[in-house]
Amino acid sequence: MKIVIKIGTSTLAHESGRLNIRRTEEICKIISDLKNAGMEIIMVSSGAIGMGTGKLGLKDRPQDMPTKQAAAAVGQCELMYTYDKLFSEYNHTVAQLLLTAADVESEERHQNFTNTLNRLLELGSIPIINENDTIATEEISIGDNDTLAAITARSAGADILVLLSDIDGLYTGDPHKDPEAVLIREVHELTEEIMALGGSSGSNLGTGGMKTKLEAAGICMASGCDMIIMNGARPELLYSLMDGEAVGTRFFAKHTSSRG
Ligand code: GLU
Repeated sequence: MKIVIKIGTSTLAHESGRLNIRRTEEICKIISDLKNAGMEIIMVSSGAIGMGTGKLGLKDRPQDMPTKQAAAAVGQCELMYTYDKLFSEYNHTVAQLLLTAADVESEERHQNFTNTLNRLLELGSIPIINENDTIATEEISIGDNDTLAAITARSAGADILVLLSDIDGLYTGDPHKDPEAVLIREVHELTEEIMALGGSSGSNLGTGGMKTKLEAAGICMASGCDMIIMNGARPELLYSLMDGEAVGTRFFAKHTSSRG
């Protein structure tokens, strides 16, 4: 089984932008265990800008491009240092891959990326992907890691993409505002009603929201990969997911039927 796990900034970092050590340790431990159990795992990790923001002592996530890129340059080091350290404890090797939109659009570069990804998996390492924020400008950026994760899942021919978020899944309304909102367990088709639930929510440090997650679902479902949105605050649910239990919201790939 090949799984892409996307970790959002709000899962990795406290609101200050500083690393959420307990959470990140838990996630790395569980991913190591899943890998030991024989799963092929690719990670897409946000957090460069968020962690750079914290490390540079900036008050909020920067808005201007040079400061964003400077924060990403600082934060990406911190991010990979952290993953390297934590995965090393369980004898796993990490590899950093940084992409821009141009790399995904160019056939040759995209092929190189896919070849490297596959080779890294054969060599037993854990590829960790992020956008190359220090050189991507607004015009050429992929923009958010939900989309990057979906593109990665498609390129890698993954079975499942898991988006670890700060919410349990897709709700019928905004659960922060609407007490009646209920969690949608299964999505088989991205109808207009479902897409309308996208809104434009997002946390202070990350860029995504439900909208980008639904767009990511579209890419996944069309390429034969299921996608799950689940709460990164409860990483142990990854075990339940692998045991076939219903976790978060599952978007079913076009060719599959309900496993609910
Ligand atoms: N590439 C950005 C970062 O690492 C995150 C983008 C996103 O949160 O979607 O900070």
